[in-house]
Amino acid sequence: MNNIFREIEESQTLLINTQSKLLIDQNKKVVKFGFGQSPFLPPKSVLEALKESVNHKEYTSVQGDPELRDYISAFHKQHNGLEVEPNNILVAPGTKILLFNILMAFKKADVLIPAPSWVSYAPQAKLAGHHIIKLHTSFEERWRINSKTIVEGAKHKKHEASILILNYPGNPDGLTYSEPELIDLARTAKSLNMLVISDEIYGLLNHNQAHFSFLNYYPEKTITTTGLSKWCGAGGWRFGAAFLYKNIEPEFKQALIGIGSETYSCAAAPVQIAAKTAYKNFNDTKDYLDYQIDILKNIGNFCSDHLNSEKIKVHAPQGGFYIFPDFSFHKEKLNHRGIMTSNQLCERLLIETGVALLPATAFGFDADNLVARLAYVDFKEPKEKHPFNITYDGPNIVEGIEKIVNWIEKS
Ligand code: PMP
Ligand code: GLU
Repeated sequence: MNNIFREIEESQTLLINTQSKLLIDQNKKVVKFGFGQSPFLPPKSVLEALKESVNHKEYTSVQGDPELRDYISAFHKQHNGLEVEPNNILVAPGTKILLFNILMAFKKADVLIPAPSWVSYAPQAKLAGHHIIKLHTSFEERWRINSKTIVEGAKHKKHEASILILNYPGNPDGLTYSEPELIDLARTAKSLNMLVISDEIYGLLNHNQAHFSFLNYYPEKTITTTGLSKWCGAGGWRFGAAFLYKNIEPEFKQALIGIGSETYSCAAAPVQIAAKTAYKNFNDTKDYLDYQIDILKNIGNFCSDHLNSEKIKVHAPQGGFYIFPDFSFHKEKLNHRGIMTSNQLCERLLIETGVALLPATAFGFDADNLVARLAYVDFKEPKEKHPFNITYDGPNIVEGIEKIVNWIEKS
């Protein structure tokens, strides 16, 4: 009986990474669809900038290097039409800690979290001592929330402050919102005076390069988070940024800076210098994004087409590198094999085929939903730029999808 320590498991994303590595160390072949890590290297100029900045060993201000924040502000104005003053940008070692600190800035709040959504939101809200309200979605709704879902969720409010967490293109589903949908969500959030944390970390990886930032529809109370982990392939460098709304309450901003100063101090100085190069050259970045998106779109469509043809229902992704296949059409057959839950589905799939997926329970679903996340990142960036050929450039993707399909056919 534990009356002393907080109960918190290791994050399921990091756990699947460790488990896959363990199997690989035992010489087992694993198709790594579990952990969502970009296969692309940061652009050469950014790698060079990092190499050259190792002697920058000083701390920066908590908010981050002012010149870097100027570049970030200009970059997102060009890419997303965002008007964010550099003074309202916070830079930190990853968006994960920024998201946590935003939640920590509140003494007590209701946190509305869609299901499915990224693994860490709910554990973070729990650590911060908040009241979690789950917003349910369905396959037919494309796993998206709408104004009705929010209003329904708000009926369970207990506190004065409420925070809605949005994430699009989404992890785990790869789906986004249309502009009219965003307008509708913004109108509802505003009418309920909610703070919206809009996690747009996959925004620049929208497959049609049509990402609309929430801040443009709800400038009164949106905090946007983004960073280098996804579009720039630099998850392990730990670099994130938050854009605060223009008229943020001074006490709230002070709390964010205060908590940052008492936890991470600042993002690593050499990484901030490399980030300047990433954000400075709009045209280079644009080419780099075009190249990645072309490949991700190709692979995402390959995966969803093949799974759908076996009645493993899935929406074709619109951004990022995830899909969220629903195996419920095969429920009876799977139940027959003793597979009742998404955890059992993923466990058996990993043991019997070597394909790693993450179960829907990690994303806020009840155990008996036979849904799992597939991160289609098990490929290497082609050495030379040529039209991406999935058979040649993504053999593990082809193998992994074939294994899933054969495994289901056999059941
Ligand atoms: N939000 C989402 C939706 C994510 O998938 C991730 C995973 N990297 C994060 C936030 C955290 O990203 P980071 O801390 O690497 O910036
Ligand atoms: N965001 C990645 C994922 O969902 C992994 C990194 C993390 O969770 O911190 O798989």
